[in-house]
Amino acid sequence: MKIFRSELQVGLKKKLFEIPSESMEQDSIRFYEDSIKCWISSENTPHGYYLRGKLNVPFLEQCDRCLVDYMTEHDIDFSILLTDKKELITNEEFDVVYFTEQHDNIDIAPVLMEYLILDRPLKRLCSKDCKGLCSSCGCNLNEKNCNCTNDWSEPRWDSLNKLT
Ligand SMILES: [Zn+2]
Ligand SMILES: [Zn+2]
Repeated sequence: MKIFRSELQVGLKKKLFEIPSESMEQDSIRFYEDSIKCWISSENTPHGYYLRGKLNVPFLEQCDRCLVDYMTEHDIDFSILLTDKKELITNEEFDVVYFTEQHDNIDIAPVLMEYLILDRPLKRLCSKDCKGLCSSCGCNLNEKNCNCTNDWSEPRWDSLNKLT
């Protein structure tokens, strides 16, 4: 995901970049399309180049309850400053990438990767009311109903109930 200084000098206006999904895959992060779309606008400021953009991410996730893969699309906004001023690196308002006159291009993929990771929910569900898997036979309860009784009035619980 390289951006060239020459492009920045002219200025980007909602320019579309297509990032190969493969290059962003890691651990459990997977995608259902070959590329991730990214639009970037740039501004030349006294501190460096200010990038503002949006990622459109086709996440392929696995449901925590039923373990089935499902697709979910996320739009993620980002703002990044490319600067040669070291004192701005610790700034907290936006992400800062060190970019000096010696560089004629910059790879912002590592920063975008951080946005991707932060955006993923901790709890992943194929739908809000996913019924999950049967704890006895393991069938997917969204697809069928099994005959297992997961009911607490089973005889083996009766003796336990008597103890209380
Ligand atoms: Zn599910
Ligand atoms: Zn069952």
